[in-house]
Amino acid sequence: MDLPAERLKDALACIAAWRTQPDEPHACPVCRSSGIAIIDRSARPYREWYVLKCESCGLDATVNIPMSGPPEF
Ligand SMILES: [Zn+2]
Repeated sequence: MDLPAERLKDALACIAAWRTQPDEPHACPVCRSSGIAIIDRSARPYREWYVLKCESCGLDATVNIPMSGPPEF
């Protein structure tokens, strides 16, 4: 299942939380169950790509975040 457009903000918030606390469980942006899997497929410094997978609702989505400014790393 792809990410519904109206859930993009929730997905970005989920990714942001995951980046600060990668070892904590995070809530799925669609069904709110915990334990969503996030995979970093970023091609820095050009673009950030994240794959979100949830076993509860079958979410399997790729979210990209265009990077602005120089990379932090
Ligand atoms: Zn889900």
